[in-house]
Amino acid sequence: MSNVIHIIGAGPAGLTAAINLAKANVDVVVHEQNNDVGLRFNGDFQGLENWSTGDDTIDFLRSVGISVNFLCQPYSELTVFTPSGSGHLVKFPRPLFYLVERGATGASLDQGLKQQAISAGVKIIWNDKVEEVKQGKAVVATGPKSADAIAKGIVFSTSHNDAAITFVDNRIAPKAYAYLLINGGKATFATCLCGCLFDAGTYFPRDEAGMDSNSTIREVA
Ligand SMILES: Cc1cc2nc3c(=O)[nH]c(=O)nc-3n(C[C@H](O)[C@H](O)[C@H](O)COP(=O)(O)OP(=O)(O)OC[C@H]3O[C@@H](n4cnc5c(N)ncnc54)[C@H](O)[C@@H]3O)c2cc1C
Repeated sequence: MSNVIHIIGAGPAGLTAAINLAKANVDVVVHEQNNDVGLRFNGDFQGLENWSTGDDTIDFLRSVGISVNFLCQPYSELTVFTPSGSGHLVKFPRPLFYLVERGATGASLDQGLKQQAISAGVKIIWNDKVEEVKQGKAVVATGPKSADAIAKGIVFSTSHNDAAITFVDNRIAPKAYAYLLINGGKATFATCLCGCLFDAGTYFPRDEAGMDSNSTIREVA
């Protein structure tokens, strides 16, 4: 048992560590408190940023042993709406970010990493909340302990073309931004808040989204 490495948490960090250790022939056990990956999310879209270094994010993922077996769509255009209501289309010479889906659904980043881990021989123990590892070595990959910011929004179907749109306006996203990401007939519309974390219901721009009363509002953070 002492040669086993225990990884606490089956999020992207824990699963990436597990995949690499398993490929290096280390015995790895991942302990996940939930009964599947991605249950912190609701099938909402997120972006893997591709702007902070000269390297492409997909190349980076490959360099850390991760294959792309999940929805991972490059976006090179972003429409930015300012407080005046005017939209500005910004085009980039390379992908600004790669859109991924988060959650327990089939094409999500989380499910893709889970499949890669299982294929590499990683054992995952579900419904296993671990507070202490008594034997062997452990990697703690339990995610953030508290919120620096929160996002509130909805996931919905649409006939709109794929798009990435952001709204920079303190009236709907104080000190942060709201975003609308559309891919393949599905969309995530959310507002992020920094500094007034308990006011998400106040700022979520439901009316401006033109949602009907059947739209499902989901907490995504
Ligand atoms: C609404 C929202 C939007 C976001 N958008 C973006 C984005 O666009 N781009 C981006 O790069 N990032 C985004 N993020 C941040 C991104 O989701 C996180 O940085 C990422 O998920 C962190 O991965 P992780 O593996 O460290 O932690 P997590 O994804 O939190 O995974 C931790 C795992 O550990 C498990 N766990 C916790 N405690 C225990 C325990 N004691 N025992 C066993 N298991 C445990 C949890 O159940 C969970 O499965 C967003 C986050 C939110 C909430």
